[in-house]
Amino acid sequence: MKAIFDQPSFYGIPLDTLKEILKENGHKPFNADQIYSWVYEKLVFDVDGWTNISKDLKSFLTSKFSFELPKVVWNGHSKDGTRKFLVGMRDSKTVETVMIPAKNNRKTLCISSQVGCAIGCTFCHTGTMGLTRHLEAGEIVGQFLAVTKWLKENVSDEERLSNIVYMGQGEPLHNFEHVKNATKVFLEPKGLGLGQRRVTLSTSGLVPQIEKLDDFPPINIAISLHAAHNKIRSELMPINKAYDLTRLLDAIKKIPLKAHRYITYEYLLIEKYNDRAEDIEALIDLLPKKVSKVNLIPFNEYPESSFKRPSVTRINWFKDQLEKGGITCTIRTTKGADILAACGQLKSEMDKKLNLWEEENFTSPT
Ligand code: SF4
Repeated sequence: MKAIFDQPSFYGIPLDTLKEILKENGHKPFNADQIYSWVYEKLVFDVDGWTNISKDLKSFLTSKFSFELPKVVWNGHSKDGTRKFLVGMRDSKTVETVMIPAKNNRKTLCISSQVGCAIGCTFCHTGTMGLTRHLEAGEIVGQFLAVTKWLKENVSDEERLSNIVYMGQGEPLHNFEHVKNATKVFLEPKGLGLGQRRVTLSTSGLVPQIEKLDDFPPINIAISLHAAHNKIRSELMPINKAYDLTRLLDAIKKIPLKAHRYITYEYLLIEKYNDRAEDIEALIDLLPKKVSKVNLIPFNEYPESSFKRPSVTRINWFKDQLEKGGITCTIRTTKGADILAACGQLKSEMDKKLNLWEEENFTSPT
């Protein structure tokens, strides 16, 4: 895995790897369990607070890894409870992370996997940025830890994040190895212990990486489909020119799925563009019925967007027709639109704040 910083972040090291590193360097592998407990259960990020770890081991760890957490540099709070965070990394780069509340006290964190994105979907604000760099695994886990710490300090001790979706900035499978290691840390029972069903990775359809998913922890997979015709999908997502719907669906069929698990297809509904009867017919023909769920996402308009959101009647009609065709279907409720945290709205409104923060804080990046 390509190193992004000379001193990698500790928070991207899976437990097994940490045990190997300790063993190779003359330390006891069982110390790894104790260290994991300090960091991920007790949330003690300063090694000086680890009372049962020797000075020798602490100095080995701090010489090898950075324990610096990403910083919450700005936060916004929507009236529906959604919170948006701008999270700053060690080299001054920032990403957006969004916490979305749901029923039963669930709190989902929508995390970023890259600074910017190379995929260039035409409906997406982030897509206009281009790719600046991948996030290292520790920066991906770091978003979760930084927001957890912020909630504890600023809202309540009881606030806990329960779910993760890789739906923030970036194409997670473009950053395969770092996202894989971060996912191992999220799932580790002796660490954050999120169950497999609580972590969802959303991809635009990078076929070669989808074909490698048997070498990835078994989490939920969501595909950003958005169209059932190649012409429309290529207009929305240039990646479709490289990997069209036939290649994409062939690759998806090979994803190892446990019993009663689904592939979710995200479908951005845009007025008079992909919300027509012929789109419904094509979707019904395209998707394997028993293992597919469609999540309809009514388009969130932003100031310069040329696309429009369909009416509520049209959205409900589209859903009903799909269900009549045997496809399980849900409509995603829009959250956080008032703070531009809704899907496809990440970026740019905050650019001025970000630039200012970066200039003030990182005149000499590491
Ligand atoms: S929708 Fe996702 S994959 Fe497409 S440009 Fe935006 S961040 Fe990248």
